[in-house]
Amino acid sequence: MSDDCLFCAMVGGQVQADVVHETDTTLAFRDINPQAPTHVLVIPKVHQPNFAALAQHEPGVAVDLVNAVAAVAAQEGLGENYRLVFNTGPDAHQTVFHVHGHVLGGRPMGWPPG
Ligand code: AMP
Ligand code: ZN
Repeated sequence: MSDDCLFCAMVGGQVQADVVHETDTTLAFRDINPQAPTHVLVIPKVHQPNFAALAQHEPGVAVDLVNAVAAVAAQEGLGENYRLVFNTGPDAHQTVFHVHGHVLGGRPMGWPPG
């Protein structure tokens, strides 16, 4: 738990989230500003700023996070057609510094990303 972290507040129940999937170590909820028909954020319950830090300090939870992504994709009917994005650092448009995977799907996607 980190003070002043929006996603820690969601894990703690102080801020409401539209939860679609939960495990002992992960939480998944709909993005408030969806960029695709399905746009779900998958986070570890433990606070780490980015995916590399999570893998270094909590490697088991990093695996849990990837498994949660697959479960969300299946539950949302995306099959194996989705984009998983970890914006990392301000230059990559990370705005919440609690690691989160964006699961995006339900429409064709272009490349490169903006
Ligand atoms: P990022 O820019 O990669 O750090 O992504 C942060 C994401 O959190 C954005 O897509 C926001 O729309 C989303 N977000 C911010 N506040 C909330 C909230 N209260 N509930 C759900 N998603 C949120
Ligand atoms: Zn946090």
